[in-house]
Amino acid sequence: MPYHKRRRKSVRFHLDQRKTARKRKTLEPSLTLQTIELLSLPNSWKLVSGTAAIQLCKFQAESADNLLALEKSISIMTDLLWKVFSSGIQLPAISRLLHGIPSTLKSSSDVLNLLRRVENAIICPGNRETLYVSLVEKRGGSIRSERGSGDSVGYVDCNSMVHVNGQSHSMTVRRRDCDLLCMRGVNSNQNRCKKCQAFRLTLRSALSRLNKTSESIHTDSSSHTKYASLNSTEKDARLRSMHSSLHSLKQQKNA
Ligand SMILES: [Zn+2]
Repeated sequence: MPYHKRRRKSVRFHLDQRKTARKRKTLEPSLTLQTIELLSLPNSWKLVSGTAAIQLCKFQAESADNLLALEKSISIMTDLLWKVFSSGIQLPAISRLLHGIPSTLKSSSDVLNLLRRVENAIICPGNRETLYVSLVEKRGGSIRSERGSGDSVGYVDCNSMVHVNGQSHSMTVRRRDCDLLCMRGVNSNQNRCKKCQAFRLTLRSALSRLNKTSESIHTDSSSHTKYASLNSTEKDARLRSMHSSLHSLKQQKNA
């Protein structure tokens, strides 16, 4: 085929494509809560309609009292703005998981894309080890920063059921800015979010400070704990403490 004919054919093809796209755009109904209600949801999801918003909800059947507990939910308002919740706590607006989803939903594919991301995400397991949970519980359920404002930097979450290595845990310690939902397989360390992973250092040093304090209650020279009830390491520590007190008294006397 001569070049000018081929070129004419190609231009016509592109024009036709543009026309079809325009036609499709005009045919697609604009997105409303009613059109969202007609979308087919994954099996484990339910739609709850309200006057000002609809909720797309995923329930879990493993709550302590065997009642259906809300695991994840997406709330879409009449103006098509949306929010995502994990066990009732709203995800931060800058969540990496939700990056690229328009703040106002424009089409059914935006809704399905959002739903797919939330469906595939896993709940950040936080730091569910009993020693960390009981450490933070001893501090009233919240751990405060040592420096600066002393604001709460972490808390015990009793509302989410977290799953690690096939085991479920009803309590975990999260950093205050935990991502709550993470993309599956992206993070190592049991899919914990980066913030909760970094928080382990704070928890570990708080735990070691606590252990040192409780040890010194028994081993200090002024302690009332009976010497005979101490173990061998504690007896050594008590003797060292007594020796150091004696040394300091002698120095005061000779001064
Ligand atoms: Zn986290």
